[in-house]
Amino acid sequence: MQLFLWQSANVMISFLLLGSRWGLAANVLTLLTILVSLILRGPFMGAQLANWLTVCLPLGITAYVSYLVMTFIEGNLLTHEEDQGKLRAARQDALTGVYGRGTIEEELERAIGHSQKNNTPMSVIVTDIDHFKSVNDLYGHATGDDVLGAVAKRRRRAVGGGGGMVGRWGGEEFIVLLPGLAKPDALVVAQRLRREICDQPLADLNITASFGVASYRGVKDTTDQLFGRADQAMYDAKNAGRNTVR
Ligand code: GH3
Ligand code: MG
Ligand code: MG
Repeated sequence: MQLFLWQSANVMISFLLLGSRWGLAANVLTLLTILVSLILRGPFMGAQLANWLTVCLPLGITAYVSYLVMTFIEGNLLTHEEDQGKLRAARQDALTGVYGRGTIEEELERAIGHSQKNNTPMSVIVTDIDHFKSVNDLYGHATGDDVLGAVAKRRRRAVGGGGGMVGRWGGEEFIVLLPGLAKPDALVVAQRLRREICDQPLADLNITASFGVASYRGVKDTTDQLFGRADQAMYDAKNAGRNTVR
C-alpha cells in the first residue's frame, strides 16, 4: 500500500513539474526502464511477473490519469492566465507602460459619462513632445524610445496619486485624464508636468513638451468636442513657442 502511494505521488509530482507532454515522456521512460531491468535479470515468469504487475500497473494507471488531469489544467486554467496576460497587454501600451489608446478612450468616455451624471468637473491634458523627430534623427530610434518611456514614467508618477490617468494617444502624444478637476486645477497640474519634463534631463537629453488643457463644459459636451479643444490648445502651445501650457 505504502509503495503504491509513493509511486502515485511521484507520478503526480512529475506531471505537475514537467507538464503533460514531458511528464508522459518521463513516466513512459520509467516504465520501460523497469521492464528492461526485469527482463535482463532473468526468467520473466511467475512471482517476477506478479512483482512487475504490482509496480507497473498502478504506475501506468496513475500516469494516465495524471496525464488527463494535467492536459485539462493546461487546456483550461493556463489558457485563462494567457488570456489575462493578453488583456493586460491590450490595456497597456507596450513601450511606455501607460494605458494604450483604446483603453484611455474608454476611460475618457467613462469619465465624461460620470461628469454628466453627477455634474462634476473633469479635465483632459493633451501633450506632445517638442521636436521629437530630431531626437530620433540625432540620437537614433532606440534613444527616442527611451525618452518616451522616461516621459511616460514621470507623468504616471506625477498624476497617479490624485486619481489621474495617463495614456499614449500615439507616437509621442500622450493624454492625461483628470476626473474631478476643473480648469484652474488642471492648468496647475499641466504646469507641473511641463516642469517635470524640462527641469531634469531625460535619457541624458534636454526634452520639452507642449500642453493643451480643456475642461468639461456641461451635459451637451461630448468626448470629441472636449478632446478637440484640448488638441487645439496643444497646437496653440506649439505656436506660442513650445514648452508651454495653453
Ligand atoms: P513638434 O515639436 O512640432 O511636435 O515636432 P516633432 O518633431 O515632435 O513632431 P513630428 O510629428 O514631426 O514628429 C514626431 C516623431 O515621432 C516622428 C516619429 O518618427 C516619432 N515617433 C513616433 N512614434 C515613435 C516611437 O514609438 N518611437 C520613436 N523613437 N519615435 C517615434
Ligand atoms: Mg512632437
Ligand atoms: Mg506629434
